[in-house]
Amino acid sequence: MARIPHVIGGEKIDAAERTQPVFNPATGEQQHELGIASVQTVEQAVAAAKAALPKWRKTSLTKRADVFFNLRQLLKQRTPELAAIVTSEHGKVLSDAAGEIARGLENVEFASGLLHVLKGERDEQVSTGVDVHSIKQPVGVVAAITPFNFPVMVPLWMIASAIACGNTVVLKPSERDPSASVFIADLFREAGLPDGVLNVVHGDKVAVDTLLDSPDVKAVSFVGSTPIAKYIYERAAANGKRVQALGGAKNHMLVMPDADLNMTADAAVSAAYGSAGERCMAVSVVVAVGGVGDELVAKIAERMEKLTIGDGTDPASEMGPLITREAKERVESYVAGAADEGATVVVDGREAQFEGDGFFTGVSLIDHVKTDSKVYRDEIFGPVLAVVRVDTYEEGLQLINDHQFGNGTAIFTRDGGVARQFEFEVEAGMVGINVPIPVPVGSFSFGGWKDSLFGDSHIYGPESVHFYTRSKVVTTRWPNPDQSKVDLGFPSNS
Ligand code: NAD
Repeated sequence: MARIPHVIGGEKIDAAERTQPVFNPATGEQQHELGIASVQTVEQAVAAAKAALPKWRKTSLTKRADVFFNLRQLLKQRTPELAAIVTSEHGKVLSDAAGEIARGLENVEFASGLLHVLKGERDEQVSTGVDVHSIKQPVGVVAAITPFNFPVMVPLWMIASAIACGNTVVLKPSERDPSASVFIADLFREAGLPDGVLNVVHGDKVAVDTLLDSPDVKAVSFVGSTPIAKYIYERAAANGKRVQALGGAKNHMLVMPDADLNMTADAAVSAAYGSAGERCMAVSVVVAVGGVGDELVAKIAERMEKLTIGDGTDPASEMGPLITREAKERVESYVAGAADEGATVVVDGREAQFEGDGFFTGVSLIDHVKTDSKVYRDEIFGPVLAVVRVDTYEEGLQLINDHQFGNGTAIFTRDGGVARQFEFEVEAGMVGINVPIPVPVGSFSFGGWKDSLFGDSHIYGPESVHFYTRSKVVTTRWPNPDQSKVDLGFPSNS
């Protein structure tokens, strides 16, 4: 069985302390073996990144930009191939896999414009004969640690900006669907990126801890679940690194009585069940305000009946399987426990029938969910939509603001005043107004509040340039005999 290699210093390395299976979630069969990196293999990757750093940071901005222009072209040409890799290991349908590649391309496009985003500032004559300018320099070796649910887009969130800013990278992708990262490293090489600038190591906690503890790693970008994000933030910060660690989510959609209910039901179904609910921006709670619940639940249930669930390679499929058998069992356990928690199971996804041994579950809709229940509090990360009924906008807003997570949220209404008030008052990092999955375009940055992000920089876009560079401020004076004298006072501007 093919073993997926690490990519270190431009070489494909087959090294494994242990091995782990990589499954096709649609069939339940193992399709690859993954070599789990030892401490030594990770250290080798960090050393390769460190060795490539001096030359890469000296490479002109134009030459760096060339790599990203080439990469953009290659990614577009090779999208069907890369989407097929994503579908075979993640399970999402091919069109959705192509969609995540298109969103990742936005980060490559942003990186192509690095001449613009790396510009410093200059002030002339801040004191007589004295000028000041600032420059942005790379931080050094960056560790990028990514989750299973977006095996192309999330690595590109990090590595495009990090590399464009002159850093070198060690990417540790999810061990569930690691092949896409190797493919991306190959494309970067074909695009002209020198060996060692992007390295890929496969592994688990051992690999991650080695990166967090390495004195040669200067910054850590992480996306994954909240407990691990918090751990990464604390350990990397304790080791003196800059760190951004994005965590889990429970995204609420607040539906006002004046909302267009057909549009709202379409949006709720798309955002709850797309990619089998395995999106950090999936809508997992609908908050129905002021008696809108009965009609809305009926419209959502009606649309759910028409969904086609199956192998992601089948063009008819709209939703694929979950990532692992354990994930399927975990998701189904929430549906099983919902009635005991006082909720009404309107559609039970466990009743759906599937042929074969894939990790499929059906779509579930749970109404009258109590806010102290597990279905409401926990991130389920599967195709389960909870509906909570409230009387007023204020009550709905309070629910969202009281929740542990604050990644994305949305309001559905025709009232501009209420929408504006929601935008002002809601405690979440990304807000949609009649838009259910408000993932910002690549020229903005992405990030949540509360337990959805540890650190102070959002990811990709302008905030990534801040995260992946250190600023240096240079104060300059040129010889002028008339102004030169001995002065032991603290320099003041005059
Ligand atoms: P995960 O936390 O299990 O894994 C993420 C990464 O951390 C992987 O590379 C994994 O190998 C590593 N890891 C796992 N356990 C570790 C440990 N004990 N010590 C060190 N490293 C460890 O997450 P996942 O299941 O791959 O992804 C799903 C989660 O990611 C969900 O919670 C989802 O909301 C979140 N997510 C968040 C965003 C966001 O932008 N906020 C985006 C995508 C996914």
